[in-house]
Amino acid sequence: MGKYKIGILNGDDIGLEVVPVAVKIMQTALKKYPQAKVDWVELPVGYPAYKSIGETLPGKTIDTLLELDAWILGPIGHMAYPKDDPKAVNPHPIIRRTFDLVSNIRPTRSYPSIKSLHQDVDVVIIRENNEGFQPDRNMYKGTGEFMPTPDIAMSVRVVTRRNSEFAARTAFDLARQRNGKKIVTAIHKNTVFKLGCGLFVDSCRNVSKEYPDITFDTAVVDTFAMQLVMRPQKFDVVVSTNMFGDILTDEAAGLVGGLGMAPGLCVGPRYIMAQATHGSAPDIAGKQLANPYAMIMSGKMMIEWLGIRNQDKGMLECAQNIDAAVSAVLNDLKDVTPDLGGKATTNRMGDAICEKLLA
Ligand code: ATP
Repeated sequence: MGKYKIGILNGDDIGLEVVPVAVKIMQTALKKYPQAKVDWVELPVGYPAYKSIGETLPGKTIDTLLELDAWILGPIGHMAYPKDDPKAVNPHPIIRRTFDLVSNIRPTRSYPSIKSLHQDVDVVIIRENNEGFQPDRNMYKGTGEFMPTPDIAMSVRVVTRRNSEFAARTAFDLARQRNGKKIVTAIHKNTVFKLGCGLFVDSCRNVSKEYPDITFDTAVVDTFAMQLVMRPQKFDVVVSTNMFGDILTDEAAGLVGGLGMAPGLCVGPRYIMAQATHGSAPDIAGKQLANPYAMIMSGKMMIEWLGIRNQDKGMLECAQNIDAAVSAVLNDLKDVTPDLGGKATTNRMGDAICEKLLA
């Protein structure tokens, strides 16, 4: 039996292309570290699972995930699922809630060779994942959106001290670990949302007292959105409530080459899940056009996180090797996908990264 059990859930559309590439790269990188042996478990999810088993999130998938250390989840194209079948659920919010994946860590990094609005960008946004305005996950039963009359729609926003503190702790730990400016900026609009954003900032400030080596700052969300476009180099680690974070992480991806360049890792007290920021991109699915970077780097973050949690040097080195191989392929631009200005297919870009790893 291996030391780690990692799940593979391909998801929908381009997930069927980018997840196998990310897995191949992780497996290639891990070959140098036989002591960090991984048992890979492939599990059905999404539309392919619906077609074969009749459910987009089979019970067996959930039961198996409970026994794993981590997994990689591809993007989900739930908008194309049958609307009238209760077995065609959107797996995202259910997985994030069931496994208490409170913090979504989303880095944005520029590469000198990749056309982007700014260079020297290296900012990580931590988005609280399971509450806020998101109506499909912010209630115990029912939904956070309802219509008292046909002409009135109401959306409830939930902010808890527990999840705000967890997200803040993720941000401060990361600011301490990484080689950055050692600043955590909490995003809010407590000028208007005095209670919701007020509780969020208060929770972040409380946590900041445990980290005297890290500077704590706050920024109003609208001002921050502008500063992120004008001077992203100013920021290090940023922590935000759910919906602000959802919007700001796509904005950040736009600074450095688009959604194909936006990886992510969902983290909770027990489980971790690699999941890119982008959706299932049905417009380019099946054409080998998808940039696998976001999924590959999400996998790299998962390996790194397992390394940190388990103080496993092999896993940490393996993550560093993936990072270096990806940078090398991006730097020479020969084997990158069309969104980055190249002509390579999704698989070719992945193979080029594997070749660097084996060199
Ligand atoms: P969701 O709401 O599920 O996050 P979305 O509405 O943000 O999805 P995406 O599926 O992420 O939409 O796609 C948005 C655009 O970005 C599309 O034009 C898509 O082709 C492009 N895109 C997304 N991911 C990638 C990728 N990995 N490589 C290249 N282009 C991508």
